[in-house]
Amino acid sequence: MRIAIAMMSHETNTFSPVVTDLARFSRQGHSAPPAGEEAIGIYRGTASCLGGYLEVAEDQGADVFMPIAAGAPPSGPVEDDAFEFMADAIVAAAPECDAMLLDLHGAMVTRSYDDGEGELLRRLREARPGLPIAVSLDMHANLTELMVNNATLITGYQTYPHVDMDETARRAARLFFEHLTGRFDPVMVWGNAPMLPHVMRQGTDDEPNKTLQKRLRELEADGDMLVSLFTGFPHADIHDAGLCVVAVANGDMALAEGARDELLDSAWAGREQFVYQPEPLEESLARAQTIAAEDGGGPVIILDHYDNTASGGTMDTTEVLAAVLDEGLKDVAVFGFFDPDSVQQMVEAGVGSEVTVQLGAKLPMPALENNSAPLTLTGRVKLISDGRFPATVAMSRGLTMNMGTTVVLHLPGEVDVIVISRHTEPFDPGCFRSLGIEPTERTYLMLKSRVHYRVGFRDMAKAVVECAGRGVCTSDYSEVTFEKVRRPIYPLDGVNADREDWLPVE
Ligand SMILES: [Zn+2]
Repeated sequence: MRIAIAMMSHETNTFSPVVTDLARFSRQGHSAPPAGEEAIGIYRGTASCLGGYLEVAEDQGADVFMPIAAGAPPSGPVEDDAFEFMADAIVAAAPECDAMLLDLHGAMVTRSYDDGEGELLRRLREARPGLPIAVSLDMHANLTELMVNNATLITGYQTYPHVDMDETARRAARLFFEHLTGRFDPVMVWGNAPMLPHVMRQGTDDEPNKTLQKRLRELEADGDMLVSLFTGFPHADIHDAGLCVVAVANGDMALAEGARDELLDSAWAGREQFVYQPEPLEESLARAQTIAAEDGGGPVIILDHYDNTASGGTMDTTEVLAAVLDEGLKDVAVFGFFDPDSVQQMVEAGVGSEVTVQLGAKLPMPALENNSAPLTLTGRVKLISDGRFPATVAMSRGLTMNMGTTVVLHLPGEVDVIVISRHTEPFDPGCFRSLGIEPTERTYLMLKSRVHYRVGFRDMAKAVVECAGRGVCTSDYSEVTFEKVRRPIYPLDGVNADREDWLPVE
């Protein structure tokens, strides 16, 4: 049996000005994503979705090929030529295979299509009607009818931070092969609720998502169902953004519908717990200093969550760092700032040089009324690196992290600011350690992250203080204008978005 395994993964923040071109889909820093044996070599044995697919398919003795492995960090809408390149590669594989295993995100928006994954799947089915297609999606997927109607089965991550990508793929692939050999007859139903859970409240260590995901696993325990609850990605402003559920059962429509309805009911009942209330920055920093002065070890994490890469941030807004410096916080390691211009300037100056840089705020953010301003900083170039390190957390096992050319800028007060050339979310302590900085020994770590930092940093932290800054991942949804998401929707329209407005899609 010939199986195509492919990835086309991007979480699109429609408010983000960060350009999503084809080169961004190459984690190796090439002009295009890897394909073929090169791609298989990169992902085989890793804790990625592709790693999970490869493991099961090869165990089944399938003849596997990989038309493309394209994954980009979250950013603005995907450029049309990039989408067409990736979609063409996958659609061209349709006549060449007996079935397809896809690693998609579920919140891809392109310049021309609000539903990038739906469009890809539609084209696949048009090119090859009836082709069996299994799809794994991120928990931040915004499901659509187009996706569900053009896939054989769909499943999603059950953890956030996403530490089960390979397991998700294995779960999908195992039942998919059961289907291909005639032992599993998938019937799939889906639905959504008129609610936009806040990203800061979507963690699976937090309620209500912890209980919701536990319930999925109970429903799946017999091994003949796939049930997924997606918390959705509110910063992809499309009609179907928000919380959704998909359920796949073995020939039993009523069973699938029951699981879907139960989960949508439970999620709706817990909607108030999915709301996040930001705290004024000055109060957060005062709290951070009080905690740092108390007994006990470990760094206090200052979480700059309005501007994280993993939600499409520019990773260069300056409000939180400016306040940290104004307040005179000492012994701070900062990850990080995406500023290739400043990196270049510091590389030219060389290690040991004193430099003055205009850090950050390089990319205008038209979606926000107020933009950041660059920070004028004078310090010493402490270290220059190519920014590559082997992943040190299980979530990225086997993969190489690539921050691009990276500089540590040392400021007075023992403040080390890491300036990078490729957008990188700080979830792996290797982003500090590979640069000679031991995060556990610092008084403060300032991280541009929302939830993924928990993977590698939460256990070492004395406390985490969530700080409201600025950015296109703003946690204050009144700062951006939602134009496309269906209305009314909770909590944008307050508590009056009645349950009757919620009509599960059949
Ligand atoms: Zn996600």
